[in-house]
Amino acid sequence: MTSKSAAAAVRATVHGYPRQGQGRELKKAIEGYWKGQVTADALRRTATALRRTNWLQLADAGVHEVPTGDFSYYDHVLDTSVMVGAIPARHRAAVGADALDGYFAMARGTQEVAPLEMTKWFDTNYHYLVPELGPDTVFTADSTEQVTQLKEALALGLAARPVLVGPVTYLLLAKPAPDVAAGFRPLTLLDRLLPVYAEVLADLRAAGATWVQLDEPALVQDRTPAELNAAARAYRELGALTDRPQLLVASYFDRLGEALPVLAKAPVEGLALDFTRSAAAQLDDLAAVGGLPGKRLVAGVVDGRNVWIDDLEKSLATLGTLLGLADRVDVATSCSLLHVPLDATAERDIDPQIVRWFSFARQKAREVATLAKGLAHGTDSIAAELAANRADLASRTNSAITRDPAVRARAAAVTAADTHRSQPYAERAAAQRAHLGLPPLPTTTIGSFPQTSELRTVRADLRAGRITAAAYEERIEAEIREVISFQEKTGIDVLVHGEPERNDMVQYFAEQLTGYLATRHGWVQSYGTRYVRPPILAGDISRSEPMTVRWTRYAQSLTRRPVKGMLTGPVTMLAWSFVRDDQPLADTARQVALALRDEVEDLEAAGTSVIQVDEPALRETLPLRAADHAAYLAWATEAFRLATSGVRPDTQIHTHMCYAEFGDILAAIDDLDADVISLEAARSHMQVAAELATAGYPREVGPGVYDIHSPRVPGAGEAAELLRKALTAIPADRLWVNPDCGLKTRGWPEVRASLENLVAAAAEVRKEV
Ligand code: GLN
Ligand code: ZN
Repeated sequence: MTSKSAAAAVRATVHGYPRQGQGRELKKAIEGYWKGQVTADALRRTATALRRTNWLQLADAGVHEVPTGDFSYYDHVLDTSVMVGAIPARHRAAVGADALDGYFAMARGTQEVAPLEMTKWFDTNYHYLVPELGPDTVFTADSTEQVTQLKEALALGLAARPVLVGPVTYLLLAKPAPDVAAGFRPLTLLDRLLPVYAEVLADLRAAGATWVQLDEPALVQDRTPAELNAAARAYRELGALTDRPQLLVASYFDRLGEALPVLAKAPVEGLALDFTRSAAAQLDDLAAVGGLPGKRLVAGVVDGRNVWIDDLEKSLATLGTLLGLADRVDVATSCSLLHVPLDATAERDIDPQIVRWFSFARQKAREVATLAKGLAHGTDSIAAELAANRADLASRTNSAITRDPAVRARAAAVTAADTHRSQPYAERAAAQRAHLGLPPLPTTTIGSFPQTSELRTVRADLRAGRITAAAYEERIEAEIREVISFQEKTGIDVLVHGEPERNDMVQYFAEQLTGYLATRHGWVQSYGTRYVRPPILAGDISRSEPMTVRWTRYAQSLTRRPVKGMLTGPVTMLAWSFVRDDQPLADTARQVALALRDEVEDLEAAGTSVIQVDEPALRETLPLRAADHAAYLAWATEAFRLATSGVRPDTQIHTHMCYAEFGDILAAIDDLDADVISLEAARSHMQVAAELATAGYPREVGPGVYDIHSPRVPGAGEAAELLRKALTAIPADRLWVNPDCGLKTRGWPEVRASLENLVAAAAEVRKEV
C-alpha cells in the first residue's frame, strides 16, 4: 500500500481522552475536596493516577503518541486562562491565597464573587468557562500544569504531545470583562498574548516536548478576513520562534474552509483536520491548496463525537487519498474523546451483539491504532480486525433494531399535507379563542415544578424495585394534586401537571421509545463535575404506547381549567442524545416526529386542548457554518410541524425555547407554525419581544417575566413593568404571561411567591389594556 519508509512514520494519536475515570473517581475526589473531605494532596494524587491510567490505556490500545494537558480539574479553557495569567480582578485575591481554591472560585464563584460565565463549547454539550478580557489585561505565562503533565507522561516512557487551546481560538472565545466598555474585541490582544505562548512553548520544549498541539477549532466557523489575518499573523510569529517544539495546529468539528489556505501557508510543521464532518469538501479544499507538502497531516478519520464503530475500510480509503496530499500522514480521532463515554465493554446490561456496534473512547483508540497499522503495513496486517469490523457493521445494518420496515414505510409515506395544519394561523387562533375562553394576557408556566429530593427518591425506589408500581403512581398522583391545586388557588389560567415523573426531558421519552438505548456507565462531561449519560438513538424509532397521556389525563380530571400536555420536540430529542450515523439526521428526526405525532393526537383525544412541544435545542444545534443553516432549519422545522400538525384547528400548539438570542433563526421560529411560543426574556430585559415584533412574527408570544435561573423572587411591580415593556411590541391579544423556563431547579417557597406575583402582575396590567 505504501513504501516502507513512509510506512514507518505512520503514527496513531488522539487529541484528548475522558478525564473522569471508569468510576468517575475525579468527580468524587473534586466534590470531596469542595466538602473538605478530601485533601488537596489526595485530590492531586487521584488526578495523577487517573492521567497515568489513561495514558497507559492509550498506549496499550496501540496509540503511539499520547496527549498531555488535556486533563483538567474543571475545564481546559479555564486552564488556558490560568496558563496565560488572565485572572479576573475579582478572583485575584483567592488565586493569590491558594491556587487550587482560586481556580475553583473562578469556576464556581464563592459567597463573595461571581464565577466566570459558562457557555457551550462549539456545537457540543460540553461547557467551558468564558475568558474575561479587557484593554488592561496583562498576560503572564504559567506553564506549571502543562510541564508537570508532560513530564509525567514522558516518565512512563511514552511519546507525548502537549495540547493547548490555540491563541486565536482562546481570544475568539473570550468576552469583554464586565467592567469593560462594550465593543472591546479580545482579538485585539493577540500581540500581547503571543509572547506568552512563546514562553510556554519554550518551557515545554525544555521539558522534552518535540511536538505541541495548538487547538484552533474556532477556525472552522465563518471568520472575517480580519480574523483570518490574525490567525495568519499568529502562526507566522509562533512559527518564526527559534526556541520551540514543532507545532501541530489542530482543527475539528467541521472543515477549515477559508482558514485552510491560511494554515497551509503558515510556517508550522503540522495540521490536524477533521475528516468526519464535511469530509468530501475538506478533501476537495485540501487538494485545491495543493496538499500539505513538507507538513505532517494528522487525519481525524475516527469520529470523536459519536459512539459507533468506525467503518475501517472507508477510513483506510480516505487515508489512502491523503497519502498523496501530505509528506506524512498520521491517524487520529476527529477531536478529543472528551465527548464520548470511556468504555463500551462496561455496558454489561446491553445485548453483547449490540455492544459490538459501539465504540467509546477506549475502543476508538484501538481503531485509530488499527488504521495506523493498516496504513503503514498494508491491509493484510490488519486482516482479522477488518473481518471483525465488516461483520459488526453488517450485523448493525441488518438488525431489526436498525431497520423496522413499518417505521420506514410510514416515514416514506409522509406528505406535505402531514406537515401543515389544516387551517392557517388566523383561523385557528379564532377557533382556539372560542374553545379555550381565556382572559387577555393568560398566565401559564413552562412545565416542570420543583423536583424535590423526595421525588427523585421515589423514582429511584421504583427503578430499584423497592416500591411497587402502584405505590409509585400514588405518590406521583399526590404530587400532581398538589401542583394543580396550587395553580388553581393562585389563579393561573393554563395549568401543567408539573412533570414529577420525569428524570430528564429527553431521557424520559428515550426510555419509552423503541430504538433508543440507555447506558449504565456512559458518562460524558457536561461541565466541571457534572456528567450526563445521553441516551443512544440506535435504531428506527417507534412508540409502543402513549408516554404521557396517563399523567396529563389525571391532572385534567382534577380541574376545569385547561391542562397543557408537555412533550419534548424532535430536534431536542436528537440534540441531547448520541444519534445514529448511518442515515441523515433529517430521516431520524422524521421518525421521532412521527412517534411524537401519535402522542400529540392521543393527548388531544384524551381531552387536552393545549399541547406544548419544547424545542430548546433548535438554536444550539444550528450548524457551525452559515452556509449549512438553511438545510438544517428546513428539516428541523418540518419535523416539528410533522409532530404537531395532526390536531384540530381549535387545539392550541405551544413551543418553548430557553434563550433570547434569536436573530439568526427568527424565520425558522415562524416556520414552526406553533400557535404560541414561550421564551426567555426576563433575563435579557424583554429585548426579544421587540425583535419578534420587528420581524413581523404574527403569533402569540409568552416572553418570560420571571428569571428562573436565580432564587430571587421578582416583585409583582417588576413583572408588571416587564409586561408593559412587552406590550409596546406585542399586542395584548397575543401576549402570554409566564416564567422564562421550567421550575424544576427551584424550591417551592420561591416558586409560590414568584407565581403569585406573576398572576398579580397580569391582573394589574389587564386593567390597562
Ligand atoms: N417543559 C420543560 C420544563 O419545564 C422545559 C425545559 C426546558 O426548556 N429546558 O422543565
Ligand atoms: Zn426552557
